[in-house]
Amino acid sequence: MTHASFFAGRELIDEEFKTLPDEHIATRPAIHFDGGQPRCNRCNNTTNFASHPCARCGNICTYCRNCIEMGKISSCTTLYTWIGPPPEHHENAGTLHWTGTLSAGQKTASSNVERAICHSSEHLVWAVAGAGKTEVLFQGIASALFAGKRVCIAAPRSDVVRELAPRLTTVFPDTPPAVLYGGSPDRNTYSPLVIATTHQLYRFYHAFDVLIVDEVDAYPYTFDRSLQFAVQKARKPESALIYLTATPHAEWQSEVKKGKREATLIPARYHRHPLPVPKTEWCGNWKKTNVPKNVLLWVKTKVEEGQRLLIFYSHIDTMEKALPLFKEIDLRIESVHAADPLRKEKVAAMRRQEIPVLLSTTILERGVTFPGIDVAVIGAEDAVFTESALVQLAGRAGRSADYPTGEILFFHYGKTDAMMKAIRQINEMNRLGIERGLIDR
Ligand SMILES: [Zn+2]
Ligand SMILES: [Zn+2]
Repeated sequence: MTHASFFAGRELIDEEFKTLPDEHIATRPAIHFDGGQPRCNRCNNTTNFASHPCARCGNICTYCRNCIEMGKISSCTTLYTWIGPPPEHHENAGTLHWTGTLSAGQKTASSNVERAICHSSEHLVWAVAGAGKTEVLFQGIASALFAGKRVCIAAPRSDVVRELAPRLTTVFPDTPPAVLYGGSPDRNTYSPLVIATTHQLYRFYHAFDVLIVDEVDAYPYTFDRSLQFAVQKARKPESALIYLTATPHAEWQSEVKKGKREATLIPARYHRHPLPVPKTEWCGNWKKTNVPKNVLLWVKTKVEEGQRLLIFYSHIDTMEKALPLFKEIDLRIESVHAADPLRKEKVAAMRRQEIPVLLSTTILERGVTFPGIDVAVIGAEDAVFTESALVQLAGRAGRSADYPTGEILFFHYGKTDAMMKAIRQINEMNRLGIERGLIDR
């Protein structure tokens, strides 16, 4: 590996490389002091610092606590960037190996994305769950790679990164993407096409001509200003920025409606069926009863009909208390949460249709597809179930063309604004889908 291909576009600390090239390297201090006030050049943190007797320089050094999981950087740390010629790309880098066809909605989005990439501008793709938003990127990425540009798709969550990687590898076989997340094997691989968690962007500096942020509304990106800073730092000053989401936050939704934000809306799914609309059902105080009677009855009836279910809970403890009662209906019923050591196995078993009912926290609200499921939320009025969370988890139903419908039930102990807004948003998308001829009736 050449120095150029190792360093290009990255901003690294001593611990992250073996040898430093003699030329083409620029440096700056990791912690910048402005009138005695520290600011971290890697994550832009200005408030979260600590001091320690430093093993490297022997002084008392200030270090950044905000980005410490990427390796500790102190006031004596240097950041290194490559300023030499960039590595050359494969002449077929942009050859797209994809024989699928785009839906009418996807086509519009695809050409708008390609135009934004060509003009180095910003564009939002607001595509309902199941619309097929990844395919919308292919043509734009292909033309960027053909033009010798460097492209990054970033997503807040590593499971989304891992799901995107094989798809992009298949369609750009001449440009296998470098796939970056905490602990990934591709750490030192150069590619003009990068797929990374937003966290990994801390290690890049003015690297990308095209930066695509997928699931832009997902935690923690929306709440974390330093991740948003990382995105800005990783893109070149003149570059395209593409956002993808099924559920933009309220401010963006209103900007789109007022025409203040460049956006393409795909209100309908690829398979041209409307989105299933959630229904609400009162279930009393579900925290007291463990599992309300009408919920148990609904699950029992569905299981007897052979229908598979995904059931969302707001908190692990209520879910775990409910599990034994569900197991009385069917012993194969399982629950899953973020820290569950068998999380991957259970999700895979649900995909293979070996589990009739999976209870889950909001970790499965997005990014997963289980064909032919119905969806329920227990305690839909809980604060964790925001409008966007409810739209996302409702989006788990009816995704496949073989089973395009699906029941979604919000079991609640008092309706909330978020529930009503989520239902309104789904109805509005269906109305637009019909109006634009993207849904067959
Ligand atoms: Zn030091
Ligand atoms: Zn920092």
